Amino acid sequence: MSLTRRLRSLLRPEAPAAGTPMRRELLLPAGPLHYELRHAPRRSIGFTISPSGLKVTAPRWVAQAEIEAALRGKQDWILRKLDEQRDRSHRQHAARVHWGEGGQMPYLGQPLSLKLGGLARYEPQARELHLGLPQDAGPAQVREAALAWLAGRARALFEQRCRHYAAALSVRYTRLSLSQAQTRWGSASANGSIRLSWRLIHLDPDLIDYVVVHELAHLHEMNHSPRFWAVVASVLPDYESARRRLREAALPTLEL
Ligand SMILES: [Zn+2]
Repeated sequence: MSLTRRLRSLLRPEAPAAGTPMRRELLLPAGPLHYELRHAPRRSIGFTISPSGLKVTAPRWVAQAEIEAALRGKQDWILRKLDEQRDRSHRQHAARVHWGEGGQMPYLGQPLSLKLGGLARYEPQARELHLGLPQDAGPAQVREAALAWLAGRARALFEQRCRHYAAALSVRYTRLSLSQAQTRWGSASANGSIRLSWRLIHLDPDLIDYVVVHELAHLHEMNHSPRFWAVVASVLPDYESARRRLREAALPTLEL
């Protein structure tokens, strides 16, 4: 075999080493679809969509034409999933807080601008949080001050909402504590203590009220029975819309 032929056979995309991903492109009516193809010991063609794009896994014996036919057959689903993935990465990127002058963090469902220099104060009309830090404060210092303010606000607001709804529902809670959880918004235990994630402070007040009411309602009913939901609805008739929005709520990334 000549060197060029050997090289060509080595470089030929049809003959990769086992499991090596190959970049491929298929022209669809909507435009070129880029994907990564990997051969694996499996019985059928599989598609996965991740932040890095579309990955196709196929058994070694499946011909390229068959893979392309499968992609064409599923193109609507694939393109929709790729769109959703793009939206999600975009939202997550936009949600990273810049810890410096003019950086924005969501507070009660709306952006709040961070300000350096001058005295510490919150200006609700201008939607500004003056941290009372020098102009040259570093990101770690800005972040620490902003998070301390948010956590303080969370405690004050959640206490007030718990008192309000405990009276409305005629329940007594023994203790309110705050957690850092990002997925579990709240919990209630049989001894009457309520736990809420302080990260709720980023969200719309309606959503916070829903979580408060949900946990307090558990002091009546320690389950999710129709009786439990009737207790929730007795003070929040529109709770289902808040519940749905809460499921879709995205939290900002607070890392430096
Ligand atoms: Zn529950």
